Amino acid sequence: MSLDEALTARMARRKLAHAYLITGRDRSALADTLAAALVCTGERPPCGQCNACRKAAQNIHPDVVRVDPEGEGLKAEAVRALRSDAFIRPNEAERKVYILCHSELLNQTGQNILLKLIEEGPAYAAFLFLTPNPELLLPTIRSRCETLRAPGEEERAVTGDGARLAEFILNKTPPAETLSFLVGLEKRDRKELAALLEETAARLTAAAPERPEALAALDRLAPIRAACEFNISAGHLAGWIASVL
Ligand SMILES: [Zn+2]
Repeated sequence: MSLDEALTARMARRKLAHAYLITGRDRSALADTLAAALVCTGERPPCGQCNACRKAAQNIHPDVVRVDPEGEGLKAEAVRALRSDAFIRPNEAERKVYILCHSELLNQTGQNILLKLIEEGPAYAAFLFLTPNPELLLPTIRSRCETLRAPGEEERAVTGDGARLAEFILNKTPPAETLSFLVGLEKRDRKELAALLEETAARLTAAAPERPEALAALDRLAPIRAACEFNISAGHLAGWIASVL
């Protein structure tokens, strides 16, 4: 991967920030490089030769923690565990790195816990927020992170769009913005829409303990999710979603 010269220089001089927001298709590879640079003990991090770099590359470095919700949503409980862990000093390295895959799936409570950690956590802790949809993160988190755009076109993230729809529902996004999003959905096929709605439902379920209105939204979406089983057009489904928001 060809990296931005300024970033390469900062890695080499151990001058990395402690919070990054990383977008772009190859964000995971970029995060791995940054994580290695943060724990590297060589002359010019990431040297790729030292023990720390090797462990990071094999994903076995004790001070590089990867949090990957795999579409289930990041529970506040998991984030609280992460917070406790962050206050335990690093095992081997000078820094401790948290790679938050699909950070857009963090609910509001989780995001607020992390925001506080960025602001008041130990200086050795570094946080890498990976996401295809930065707009789903709190503006306060975004403003405290340095944004890095990894190479590669963003994939059409069904996961991100499902989460986005849930955010629209919960935040009562202005109709115009929601409508243009829904019009975009008509171009999807039925299977994609079904996956998107499942993601929306997962996101709403995760939000329900703090946002009672999420349960009502789940009820309204239930018949539409059921209808995805049948031979119904994407355009019809998109219109139906619009009618229940
Ligand atoms: Zn190294």
